[in-house]
Amino acid sequence: MMRSEGLLTEAELSVVAPVYNESQNLRPLLDRLIPVLESCARSFEIIFVDDGSTDDTIEVLRKAHDLDPRIRAVSLSRNFGKEIAIAAGLDHISGGAAVIIDADLQHPPEIIRAFVEKWREGYKNVYGQRIDRAADAPLRRVLTQRFYRLFGAVGEMQLPEGAGDFRLLDAKAVAALKTMREHARFSKGLYAWIGFKSIGVPFEVAPRLAGHSKFSYRKLTHFALDGLMSFTTMPLKIWTYFGLATSVLALALAAFYVIRTLLFGVDVPGYASLIVSITFFAGIQLLSLGILGEYIGRIFAEVKRRPLYLVEERLGLDERAGEAFP
Ligand code: UDP
Ligand code: MG
Repeated sequence: MMRSEGLLTEAELSVVAPVYNESQNLRPLLDRLIPVLESCARSFEIIFVDDGSTDDTIEVLRKAHDLDPRIRAVSLSRNFGKEIAIAAGLDHISGGAAVIIDADLQHPPEIIRAFVEKWREGYKNVYGQRIDRAADAPLRRVLTQRFYRLFGAVGEMQLPEGAGDFRLLDAKAVAALKTMREHARFSKGLYAWIGFKSIGVPFEVAPRLAGHSKFSYRKLTHFALDGLMSFTTMPLKIWTYFGLATSVLALALAAFYVIRTLLFGVDVPGYASLIVSITFFAGIQLLSLGILGEYIGRIFAEVKRRPLYLVEERLGLDERAGEAFP
């Protein structure tokens, strides 16, 4: 049944799960998720966002929806990435609180009970806090730690330790997130940016059930850059200080050479220092240009004002929901 027909009331809790080729994990996830939700929510819906899967994810979802109409889905026209899939899911919830969860069972559904408890106490932004990163590959673990240290030093937001997408957001927090339509999405930063009364609930990340992580190191690098660039302008501004320092140095050097020439005459050697300084400053200029390019590329992507995503199909959801239709 479609909500537009007025037959379904607002669910108290909407679970949003982005899925990209996760057909094997869906049933096991539902088997654990539904009893948890039945025990802690008055009413609920589970919205899967099929992020352009190429396996039989959509068929599995269709079957699940036919058996249990509380299971709903929005299928995107192609793979838009997890961050945008989450945004699409939040656009489609019926108006209550939202829980965001990975579909690979790395986020234990049972923790949702604790989320709901905190929410009923009045917290609007309840985040799961991973105790360790043992489930990640060792290289990824090290790089992730480095990234968060760097973000902590230069980012404009303070990110809570170990917090990710696994969280409960009150309707107010969801409404706030929905106003942010940026394409280069770094959700962890956005969750921190909106504020609201927040609290962490520790949990242990389980190993992925079936399949493998959808994040290659290339994707993770892009994601890290998006995160840094959308939450700091420090890389742009640093060149002002660097330029100032080198100009002062150049002036001092000029004075030194003028005085030396006046005192000791013209001196030809100096090839090595010349070549070193030319290559050094050429490198610095290219680097700062590159950083400008990174920001300008992102500005370009945003000013086009394309929709965040396009929907191919909805199961059990209002056809007019979301930002772009059909
Ligand atoms: N995911 C998605 N679109 C993507 C990549 C991932 O919807 O382009 C989903 C994926 O199906 C899973 C969740 O995001 O439910 C987390 O992905 P994954 O387990 O691959 O990431 P990791 O746990 O390695 O960070
Ligand atoms: Mg995973």
